[in-house]
Amino acid sequence: MSDEEVRDDGYDDFMDALEEGEPYYVECANGHASLPPRRLCPECASDDLEEAPLPETGELLTYNVTHVPTPAFEDDVPFVLGIAEFGDVRLTGQVRADSEDVEVGDSVSFGTDISETNGERYIAFDLA
Ligand SMILES: [Zn+2]
Repeated sequence: MSDEEVRDDGYDDFMDALEEGEPYYVECANGHASLPPRRLCPECASDDLEEAPLPETGELLTYNVTHVPTPAFEDDVPFVLGIAEFGDVRLTGQVRADSEDVEVGDSVSFGTDISETNGERYIAFDLA
C-alpha cells in the first residue's frame, strides 16, 4: 500500500477485523456500545472506551431490495440491503441471499465482500 493512499483508519481496521473473523465494537464505561472509529462515546461523550468482541450472529431488523443503487454499487443490483443487530450494535450490510429467502427476524452472520462495481469492501450478511 502506498503512502498516498487515503485510509480511514478506524473503518478500515474494523473491516480488516471483520474479514479476519475477529470483529469488535467499542464500549464505554457506562456500557454504551458503538462502532469504531470512535474516540468518544456518542451517547455520553465518555472517552473511556474499550474494544469488545462482536457476537457472531445477529438478528435482521429490517431489509429492502435495492434495484436503484448508488453509483458505487450499480453493477451489484439487485441486492438486499439489511440492518441487523449484533448484541447492542447495529450494522448495515448486503444480505447474500435471494430476496424471497429473507425475512425480518432471520439470524445472520457477517463478513465482508467486494463490490463488483468499484472493488470496495463492504459488510455482507449471510443467513445463519
Ligand atoms: Zn457512553
